[in-house]
Amino acid sequence: MKKYLRIGLEVLLVILLVASSTFAYLNFSGKKHLSIDMEEVAAELDETKDTLDKTKEQLEDAQKKTEALEETVKQFDVVKQAFANGVLLQDIEALYKAQKVLNAERLVGLGTVRQLSKGFEDASAVEAFQKSLDIAELGARMQAVCAAQNSLVSAGKKVKVLAECTGKLEKPIDHGKSAQNVHWGYEGDHGPEHWGANFATCAAGKKQSPLNIVGPFEKSKEVVKADYKESPMKILNNGHTIQVNIEPGTSTLTVNKEQYELLQFHFHRPSEEQVDGKNLAMTVHFVHKSKEGKLAVLGVLMNEGKENATIKSLWANLPPKEGEEYLPAKMIINPSSLLPSDMSFFSYEGSLTTPPCTEGVSFFILKNNVDLSKAQVAKFPFKLNARPVQALNDRKIYAN
Ligand SMILES: [Zn+2]
Repeated sequence: MKKYLRIGLEVLLVILLVASSTFAYLNFSGKKHLSIDMEEVAAELDETKDTLDKTKEQLEDAQKKTEALEETVKQFDVVKQAFANGVLLQDIEALYKAQKVLNAERLVGLGTVRQLSKGFEDASAVEAFQKSLDIAELGARMQAVCAAQNSLVSAGKKVKVLAECTGKLEKPIDHGKSAQNVHWGYEGDHGPEHWGANFATCAAGKKQSPLNIVGPFEKSKEVVKADYKESPMKILNNGHTIQVNIEPGTSTLTVNKEQYELLQFHFHRPSEEQVDGKNLAMTVHFVHKSKEGKLAVLGVLMNEGKENATIKSLWANLPPKEGEEYLPAKMIINPSSLLPSDMSFFSYEGSLTTPPCTEGVSFFILKNNVDLSKAQVAKFPFKLNARPVQALNDRKIYAN
C-alpha cells in the first residue's frame, strides 16, 4: 500500500513539477510579449507626437501665409478699385498733361492703364492702345536708325544725321577717335596735359574751355532765358562725372531768338571756371543743343554753404555702378531748381571741357552762385574732375 502511495506521490510530484515549469514558461513568455507590445506602443506614441508637432507647425505656417495673402488681396483690391473708378487713369493723364511729355513709352503705358480701367469692351480704348503700340514700334525703329547714324559719325564718317536723331548724339566727335573708346582722366598719364595725344583739338585749339573769368569785359547784348520743366530724370555715372539726362522735349534755353534743347546736366569738382583766379567748390554745366547741332553750355558755380535740396535728392539716387543710365522710381526734378534767381551772366566762345574738346560751344557762366553743403561736396563720387583753365588767346569775355 505504501508502495502505491509513494508512486502516487511521485506521479503527483512530477505533475506538479511539469505544471509549475509550464506555468513559469508561460508566465515568462507572456511577460516578454507584453513588454514588446509596450515598446511598440511607446514608439507609436512618439511618432504620433512628432506628427502632431509637425502638423501644428504646418498649421502655423499656413496661417502666416494666409495673413500675408490677405494683405496682398487687400492691396490688389485697392489697385482694382483705383482702376475701376478711373482715379489712377485720371492721375496719370493729369501728370503727363502737366509735364507736357507724351512719348511712345508713356503712350503704351497709358494705353495699358486705359484698357485695365475701361475694359476690352471699350472700342476707343482698344484702338488707342493699338495706336500707341504702333508708335512705340516706330520709335524703336527710329532708335535703331539713330544708333547706326551716330556710330558712323563716331567712327569719323561724314553722315547727314536725321533731325530726329540729333538729340541722341550727346557730343560731336572729331578726328575719328571716340572719346568713349580712349581712356582719359584728370590725373597722371591720362590727365588733361596728355589729352592732345589722342584728341588734337584739346592741345591745338585756340578757343578752349574753361576760362578764368576776369575783366575787362565787353558789354553783352544777348538775351538768355532758361525754360526748364519738371520731368523724370535718368542719372548716370559715366566714369568722368555724374550726369543727369533730360527727357527729350521738356526743357529749353533761348539765346536771343535761337532755341536750344536741354540734353543733360553734369557736375565738376572743383568748379572748372575760375572767377578772378579762384575756383569754387563745384560747377553744374547744363548742356544744350540747337536744331542745327550748335551747343550751348550754361554754367552755375556752386559755393560751399547751405545744404541744397535738389542735390540732396540727386545724391540720394546716385547710380549703384558706373555705366548704365539709371531711372530712380520717384525722382522728378525741375533742373531750374539748380539755377539762381538772378540770371546775369558772363559769356564767351569755348569748347567741350572734356575730350574731344570740340570748339564752337557758347558758354554762359552765371554771375550768381548756388549753395551746397560741405557734406554734399564730399559725397560727390569724383574728387577731381575739372580741366584746368585754358588760354584766352584773342577771345573776349562778355558780361551783361
Ligand atoms: Zn562740364
